[in-house]
Amino acid sequence: MPLNEKENDAISRRNLIRKSAEVIGAGAAALASSGVLSAQQAALPDRTLAGSKMRAFIRTAQGASVQDVKLLALRDDMVAIRTEATQCCYTIVNQALGSGTAGAGGAGGVVAARILGHGGVGIVEAVGSSVRRVRPGDRVLVTNTPNCGECYDCLRGRGDICQMNPSAGEPLVPIGELADGTPVHQHNNTGGFAELMITFDWYCVPAFTKASGGELAMLGCVGATGLGAVTTFVPVDFGASVAVLGAGPVGLSAIQGARIRGAAKIIVVEPIRARRELALKLGATIALDPNVEGNNLVEKVRDLCRDEATRKFLGGRDTTRGSDSGGADYVIATVGGDAAMPKVEQGPDPTAILPTRQAWEMTRAGGHLVTLGLPRGNISLPAGAWANRGRIHHAGQYGGVNAKSDVPRFVQLVDMGLFNAKAMVTSTYSLDQSKEAFQAVADRTTVGAVVVFS
Ligand SMILES: [Zn+2]
Ligand SMILES: [Zn+2]
Repeated sequence: MPLNEKENDAISRRNLIRKSAEVIGAGAAALASSGVLSAQQAALPDRTLAGSKMRAFIRTAQGASVQDVKLLALRDDMVAIRTEATQCCYTIVNQALGSGTAGAGGAGGVVAARILGHGGVGIVEAVGSSVRRVRPGDRVLVTNTPNCGECYDCLRGRGDICQMNPSAGEPLVPIGELADGTPVHQHNNTGGFAELMITFDWYCVPAFTKASGGELAMLGCVGATGLGAVTTFVPVDFGASVAVLGAGPVGLSAIQGARIRGAAKIIVVEPIRARRELALKLGATIALDPNVEGNNLVEKVRDLCRDEATRKFLGGRDTTRGSDSGGADYVIATVGGDAAMPKVEQGPDPTAILPTRQAWEMTRAGGHLVTLGLPRGNISLPAGAWANRGRIHHAGQYGGVNAKSDVPRFVQLVDMGLFNAKAMVTSTYSLDQSKEAFQAVADRTTVGAVVVFS
């Protein structure tokens, strides 16, 4: 298996880096004990990256390609991480495969050259002088969304909408330049499709695990989004009914999370047969094809969520047609608008407005709807039922995840064998094959595509 070979290489390389970091640490500790340095300074080797080169998959107005980047000095508040693996998120398909200046835009605005990706996993190679959380040699996940722990939203438990995110207005920081002097920025101030990720420590989560880079890369964005949505953001009750729309990596992670939480019924709605089959292996109890169910989809889910007890005085509910008491206790909508036409089975609506509306309709009165996808357009709902019938809508960027507290626990779920991240890594590529990897994601011929660094 190419993945295993690459992973083994990465692990031996990691050990080398760790060993060298330990040597640096030991020397610094000696200086600290002699009183020359404070203990805090001792842990931080005096290194910068100025002038060194790395390779990265970079988007410019001409499109995306792998190019050399000459690095600037590492800022005091940033961390350089030698990348082990990163995941090809569907949300950046347009940036990876499109052309034109607009495509070089995204969170943080239009820049001339943007390293693609939003996180991954790797080993800390150098830290700036004011960084406290991580040290050289640490294995860390760089998460899709920061969690500074100090902004208005983090202090209120909403790390997923942390103010340090470029999508919340935080400017992108240049980290290097192309051969012609063009400044290079990173998507989300993290990148991922580069030999080094240069980021702030509030994107870094320690990963004390022997899990492979590929598995952990799935937790950087999509895996944590789906898993967090049903375990920490809106924790599913045991015995509950859950409907998950879309069985891409986010949906498959939500399905696994619902299984871990002890949901009794987990209904997956997905047009692609291979994904329905994988969903059933990972915990879904029933799989529906929206193209087969057509306009009957909502009623079908309501029928499937019918309880044994139908009498109200026996704890039952009125689930006859026309009543909105029926439906799933939790509905997780992970369907997004198509960035490209799939080469496999297509869903009923490329904008994803239809499945998003159906998700609301199949949520029982008083139930929870969690939306995680990126539909395009406007949604219209019956105002009376929207205003009065107790459905609770949770919109979760990054599944409501507070990375610092949640992601280490998700890593534990991998180690405990409860969350199967490996099953979602359906293809691996090298950095030079980044475009090919994104094409497979755009075509939907793979579920989870991961770029592994050797
Ligand atoms: Zn993502
Ligand atoms: Zn914050």
